[in-house]
Amino acid sequence: MTNQTQTRFLLNESDLPKFWYNVMADSPVAPTPVLRPDTLEPVTPDFLSVLFPMDLILQEVSHERYIEIPEEVREIYKLYRPTPLQRAHRLEKALDTPAHIYSKYEGASPAGTHKLNTAIPQAFYNKKAGTKALTTETGAGQWGSALALACNFFGLDLEVYMVKVSYQQKPYRRVMMETYGAQVFASPTDRTNNGRAVLKADPNSPGSLGIAISEAVEVAATSGGKKKYSLGSVLNHVLMHQTVIGEEALKQMDLANEYPDVVIGCVGGGSNFSGLAYPFLRENLKNGRRARLVAVEPSATPSITKGVYAFDYGDTAKMAPVVKMYTLGHGFIPPSIHAGGLRYHGMAPSLSAFCDAGLIEAIAVKQKPTFEAAVQFARTEGIIPAPESAHAIRAAMDEALDAKKKGEKRVILFNLSGHGHFDLSAYEAFLNGKLEDAEYPVEAVKAAMADLPKVSMPA
Ligand SMILES: *Cc1c(COP(=O)(O)O)cnc(C)c1O
Repeated sequence: MTNQTQTRFLLNESDLPKFWYNVMADSPVAPTPVLRPDTLEPVTPDFLSVLFPMDLILQEVSHERYIEIPEEVREIYKLYRPTPLQRAHRLEKALDTPAHIYSKYEGASPAGTHKLNTAIPQAFYNKKAGTKALTTETGAGQWGSALALACNFFGLDLEVYMVKVSYQQKPYRRVMMETYGAQVFASPTDRTNNGRAVLKADPNSPGSLGIAISEAVEVAATSGGKKKYSLGSVLNHVLMHQTVIGEEALKQMDLANEYPDVVIGCVGGGSNFSGLAYPFLRENLKNGRRARLVAVEPSATPSITKGVYAFDYGDTAKMAPVVKMYTLGHGFIPPSIHAGGLRYHGMAPSLSAFCDAGLIEAIAVKQKPTFEAAVQFARTEGIIPAPESAHAIRAAMDEALDAKKKGEKRVILFNLSGHGHFDLSAYEAFLNGKLEDAEYPVEAVKAAMADLPKVSMPA
């Protein structure tokens, strides 16, 4: 029997997952090759080992179904995991819907988002391999703060290249990173060839994620092995680390005596969505379940719903590997929406392949209705969501309203990937009526698409 009044479904420390789930073991679609950006030939481990420690490279290409979570990583997960699963009774009531709405709350992590789930193992495997320092980029600062905390736990130095306009607009994220012990630089900097070239062309460059990635990669690649590079989304190993979310949620839905009809997450590079959804995809593929899995992107950066499924560079400067993914073109500069974490031109290759195969659905939602959903959620459930997570809330509310229209009981589960306490200027703009819907940038996408690498698919 479903307990109709229970709100929180909590697990014990002993229920913390012991394994990450590697979806590649059950994937019905063949993996596509990862190519060197300079030659467009398949990458070799020595190309990747300049940037990543061997344990992470092996996870990146692994087809083992379950990979054991090291005890040192589980010990730190215990600071905030298992995270709560909550039934949104008050939101259901406000929508007057027969649907049941559940959220998995990753904002409960000390860094405020799901990103700590991969930052901890990435720092751990680097420490184990003898790395002295990590470099990374950050846009809005969520990834930088998660990695700063993880590096602090393992005694690694961290250099964060933070997009200059965010560095100036989000000083508190910078202070958070510095509090955890990281060094933060406003990118473009004069510390790298890539940064100096940008500054020479435009001393007032506001920076971009593409430029910041190029700087962080250059510092690691030229450090003689002392420094490695770390990425917060997109890659197979990153998505795999996030599956602790879905493994816990499966157990918690059991506690609620329900099973989701639909599982929802917002997508930037694809990690929080995949972390929740891949264990449910396993149940669909292997155990006869039929949950719909819905990825939600902003209509201003609609890589899955409006992009092409093609090989493309991971970054603007063409230094990162070329992968097959849904992309808007590596040269695409997205409109400046408030969900900074969703402004990436591409999408994780595995998630792209599953969307292409029809195993996962994708939809795009606009910024204004997203903030309307965020405010309604804050006023009913109390949590002020990150603007990124609010995209998932919009989609969950639309599902609940659709269920009401059709008179169906529908069980909806979404990932509340982070809280919005550092995003209050976006809320201020919305509350003052100053937040506009960014239009879909048709021309910018067309221009960027003209520059995709010409890859003849290797045999
Ligand atoms: C970074 C971020 C995202 C987007 O990244 P994914 O890799 O797609 O999960 C979503 N929500 C929050 C709160 C984030 O910080």
